[in-house]
Amino acid sequence: MSEKNKVIVVGGGLCGTLLAIRLRQRGFETLLFEKRPDMRKEEISAGRSINLALSNRGLRALEMIGLREKAKEITIPMKGRMLHDREGNLRLSPYSGRPGDHINSISRGDLNSMLYDEAERLGVPIQFNTSCIAADPDSGKVVFKDQDGVVTEVHGAAVFGADGAGSVIRREAMKRSNEIRFNFSQNFLTHGYKELSIPPGEGGSFRIEKNALHIWPRKTFMMIGLPNPDATFTITLFLPFEGEDGFDAIQSDADVQRYFEKWFPDAIPHMPHLLQEYRENPTSSLGTIRCYPWKTGEKTLLIGDAAHAIVPFYGQGMNCAFEDVVVLDQIMDEKEGNWGAIFDSFQKRRKKDADAIADLAIDNFIEMRDSVADPVFTKKRQLEMELERNFPDYYSKYSLVTFREDIPYSTAMKVGRKQDEYLLEVCAKAGDIGSIDREELVEQLLVKRLMADG
Ligand SMILES: Cc1cc2nc3c(=O)[nH]c(=O)nc-3n(C[C@H](O)[C@H](O)[C@H](O)COP(=O)(O)OP(=O)(O)OC[C@H]3O[C@@H](n4cnc5c(N)ncnc54)[C@H](O)[C@@H]3O)c2cc1C
Repeated sequence: MSEKNKVIVVGGGLCGTLLAIRLRQRGFETLLFEKRPDMRKEEISAGRSINLALSNRGLRALEMIGLREKAKEITIPMKGRMLHDREGNLRLSPYSGRPGDHINSISRGDLNSMLYDEAERLGVPIQFNTSCIAADPDSGKVVFKDQDGVVTEVHGAAVFGADGAGSVIRREAMKRSNEIRFNFSQNFLTHGYKELSIPPGEGGSFRIEKNALHIWPRKTFMMIGLPNPDATFTITLFLPFEGEDGFDAIQSDADVQRYFEKWFPDAIPHMPHLLQEYRENPTSSLGTIRCYPWKTGEKTLLIGDAAHAIVPFYGQGMNCAFEDVVVLDQIMDEKEGNWGAIFDSFQKRRKKDADAIADLAIDNFIEMRDSVADPVFTKKRQLEMELERNFPDYYSKYSLVTFREDIPYSTAMKVGRKQDEYLLEVCAKAGDIGSIDREELVEQLLVKRLMADG
């Protein structure tokens, strides 16, 4: 194959590996470089978050590469949020009123390994333990260093920076920020997270409801739990770093015990390793990264978290990164051969959607930790479920984002926010939602939708 046909993907995470598969399927000689060891051979942490919520946008990308059904085999469907109050009462809040709509818990490591297997099956060589240390975005030259310190230069007709939130390819763009007018912002949340776990129960059973995403909402902070196929749950504690309810205030084992007894008493019997895990597992920060342009040179494009890292509260970071590849693929159909034009089109089409899901993810943090337990919000969700069951054209904001892969995030945000505003107003006014005229409501919502949609 000629040099013209050679493309380089930097970063063999979820996005980079899926992209490498697609480029190979399109006939490119594709080289994939990953700084970590091969997770299929070595026991390494898969990185941030052990499991992830995979939804329709991500599934569409997996379908594009022919792995949707295989991936679904290793998922656990989650039909709704199982809310745990401080007294240990449980309430299931479904994600949708449409039967069959659900999100899926999947192991990051298993999904990434499945993608590695497929990439290699198609003939993509994956260079593990090899870090990108420099790049020239215009010439397509990328410099790598392997674990023995050996430095090599590789040239490609196109280079994809899929190297995640701490991207080296993006750092290279920042070096020439004046030249390309490179905008960059990074906003940390005041909250961070720590991963804990719930082991299997007796006889390998699930100790709490298997088919739900568990939430312990506590207004300014929360804990969540996602199921794994081995009957464990990955628990993530999202707390402020500072303040009396924050990580800084929880130092000793006794502090942890007191904190959980106060805020999450029903979880304690299910978490026999709580104290040890709390002590040993890192506390990590969360933030949003925005930058532009993503085309950092004639031959280089940022993609996935390298272009737009978001906070995890909509469960959309990976889904969005996968959707990047779907959009790129569509553009390649339109403009085959000319990388500069493809990258231009991609960033123009995609930036507003990445911005929208970044904003929505921050909104959802408030919703998950606070609103889900609020009585007006609860009424609104009940009403939305009923509307989704009875009116085929109605989709809540959550459903537009999560289950409508045919609608861009930016449209889902505009329409969803208008609907939310109106429904919350109606629910706050109505004592009993039973008295609300459904036909009239749906008509009003349609007007709001048309107005938001322009
Ligand atoms: C706590 C948490 C929970 C989350 N939950 C969800 C969820 O439920 N659903 C969802 O859709 N998303 C979720 N996300 C977001 C999701 O993890 C990311 O959006 C997704 O991993 C992005 O994929 P990526 O391939 O772009 O980046 P990454 O997954 O970060 O992959 C980048 C890869 O590049 C490699 N790399 C880095 N630097 C170099 C270098 N110099 N040279 C070579 N290789 C390099 C890294 O080792 C890594 O393998 C969550 C994130 C967090 C933090």
